[in-house]
Parts: sequence; structure tokens; C-alpha cells
Amino acid sequence: MTPRRVPKSVVVAGIVALALLLGGRITACTPAQTIAAAGPTAAPTADPTTTPTAPPKQPATDTPPVATRPGGSTIGPVAGVKKSAGQNVALTFDDGPSPYTPQLLALLRAQGIKATFCLIGTEVQKYPHLVAQIAREGHTLCNHSWHHELKLGTKSVGTIEANLARTNAAIRRAVPGATIRYYRQPGGMWTPNVVSVAKSLGMTPLGWSVDPNDWRRPPAKTITDRVLRNTHRGSIVLMHDGGGDRSATITACRTIIPTLKKQFSLVPMR
Ligand SMILES: [Zn+2]
Repeated sequence: MTPRRVPKSVVVAGIVALALLLGGRITACTPAQTIAAAGPTAAPTADPTTTPTAPPKQPATDTPPVATRPGGSTIGPVAGVKKSAGQNVALTFDDGPSPYTPQLLALLRAQGIKATFCLIGTEVQKYPHLVAQIAREGHTLCNHSWHHELKLGTKSVGTIEANLARTNAAIRRAVPGATIRYYRQPGGMWTPNVVSVAKSLGMTPLGWSVDPNDWRRPPAKTITDRVLRNTHRGSIVLMHDGGGDRSATITACRTIIPTLKKQFSLVPMR
């Protein structure tokens, strides 16, 4: 047999698979750290294109909280923002719709799962047929502002109201008579004004409790691990189907959704 060069990615995948086989928990280790710890002689066996399937995880108590967006807190300090899915787990997808949305919808459909989509007005205008598809497939609609204005809450009540109403109008042009149950402030930068305007327009302010920072485009496995480690009963998980290249999020969801489905009831916000 001719010895051949083994690509580094094969070594990493092999070590990860080996560690999983041995029952070791891979927690905070980066692949580089894993290699250093395991040494260079570990046998590469796994197909590098196959993501190792992580075993179902218990709610994590040993991992630090996931970082938040600069300038914004994960859950704003403002009262009246919903941040629990009760006894269940809710998957929420922000910043769409986008050309990635159909892949996510197909995945949700195949798994029989309903989610919540927080839509940006300008994207609704670009892809009204995707908004119609989201609604038709039974997912919950959430207003995510007209153009993702992070500082909307600092504007006048009139400005906030016009922004949210314009977004709702665009959604209802795509889906006549749509029920829009929620508003989610971009960046979680809630203010008392934005909370009260959302409520006055019939929308519940929607926060989140698990944020894998997928919008920063880490590898799919990182997104998967962050979500699976931090999700427990009541979690509202924040991910993104819009706002850029979301292929890693879609890939992550192929593991996240079936794994969470075995442990929790995955529900749309109601
Ligand atoms: Zn957003």
C-alpha cells in the first residue's frame, strides 16, 4: 500500500470522530487545540466532508455565555420583552427573507417543525413570494423593522411607529390579512419607547436567550455546538436566514433541528 499525504482536515475530522467514539466531550477545544492535545499520530479515518454527529447534550452549565453583538445586549434591560418559550423551545430566524430562506423552509418542512421569522421590511419588498411561502407553511411572522435600524428605539415615538407600521404594511402586501404577532428590535437594543410602540401596534416584543452569533459566520459546527450546548427548555434560539451568506447556518440547522427535536418540543412563538 502506498503511503499518502493526509490532508489536515482529515486529521481533524478523524480526531473528532475518535474522541466522540471514546466518549470524550468536546467542549471548548478548538480543532487546533484538539490536535495539540491528541498529538500528530492519531489515525485519520473519517471522511472530512462528514460532520461528526454530536450526541444529545444536557443543558450546559460549564460554558460561558455566548457573546453578544457589539453595542447591544442579548436581552435588553427593558421590561416587557418576551424571552422564554415556556416549556418548549422556539427557533427564530432573523434578517430575511433571503435566497437562503427556501432551503431553511424545506428543512423545516421535512422535519415537521414550525419556526418564527423576523422579517426586515426592505427584504420583504424584495422577496414577497418568500414571505407568502413562510406564512403558507404555518410559521409565525415577526416584524424586525424596516431596514434593521439598530438605534430605532432612540428615535421619536412617531418615527418608531412609522417604521414598524411600514414594515407591517409590506408584510401584509405579501400576505393579505397576515397576523404579525411579534416585533424584535434589531441588535436587541430595546428602549421603553420601542417596546410600547410595538405593543400599541398589537405586537409582543420578542427577545431571545440563545445566540450562536451565526451572523459572524463561524463554521457550521461552531454554530451547531453553541446552540446544542446552550439550549434548554424555554429557550428562544436566535439564528439568521438573511443578512449575508447563511450557508453555514443552513448546514448547522441540518444537525440542530433533528437533534433538538429529539429533546424538546420545537414550536413557533404563539
Ligand atoms: Zn437582525
